[in-house]
Parts: sequence; C-alpha cells; structure tokens
Amino acid sequence: MLTPVIDEDGAPFWEFTARGELRIQACAACGELRFPPRPCCPHCRSFDSEWRLMSGRGRIWSYVLPHPPLLPEYAAQAPYNAVLVELADAPRIRLAGNVVAAPDAPLNSVDPARLRIGAPVRVAFTEIDGVTVPRWLLERA
Ligand SMILES: [Zn+2]
Repeated sequence: MLTPVIDEDGAPFWEFTARGELRIQACAACGELRFPPRPCCPHCRSFDSEWRLMSGRGRIWSYVLPHPPLLPEYAAQAPYNAVLVELADAPRIRLAGNVVAAPDAPLNSVDPARLRIGAPVRVAFTEIDGVTVPRWLLERA
C-alpha cells in the first residue's frame, strides 16, 4: 500500500490521527480553516496557526472506482473506491480517502453500488505501515 509522505507542515495532522483525532489546520488570526496544511494563511497572510478538532462527520462529495491499469497491489483489490469527503464542520474542505466496511477492512469491502454522492460518512482510523490514516464508514449500513 502507498502511505502518505509526511512533510513538516503536515506532520501535526498525522500526529493527531495517531491519537484518533481528525484535526484541520486553522488560522489563529482570522480563524479560516485550510487544507492541505501550509505555513501561511491564504486569507490574511498570518503565519500563526492552530489545529481544530473536527466531528469526523462528512458527506461523499465525489468518488471514483479506479480501473486498470493499477499498481499490482491495488489491481488485486479492484473494484474499490476512492472518495472525496466534504467535512460537516468545514464544507469547503474535502479529504481524499476510501469508504470501507470497518476501520481495518480491505479497500474493496464496500459494494460500489452502495456509494452515492451526498451519502453521510464518518471517519475511522487504521494504521498502515506505521501511519494512522483516516478512512470513511457509511453512516447507514
Ligand atoms: Zn488568516
């Protein structure tokens, strides 16, 4: 599996996921949330930031069902999904991820026919190669 490349700006995000928290960087001056993490606020140019705890709820904003050619380990799991989740607490922020049946379930554990744009999801976390990644569970099973 491919795991995230963690840079200095994004490191806090992954430290919080390791604690089971989904936090999004916010400007400490004007309060605007921003993602992906970066040093400077695009709204007011402040370099002061904080990490705001999210509820972990969201909706599927878009999704794809990747088809071959795929990397071998992914080809073995197709068909699976890749989703963009719009956060309930921050509707302009969308996180890429996968909808799965349980936090540790395989990528192909949800029937693609169950996916809908707008479907409510909630975050779950699983550790992959030492990195705790957010994944998404459908709210209505
Ligand atoms: Zn700002």
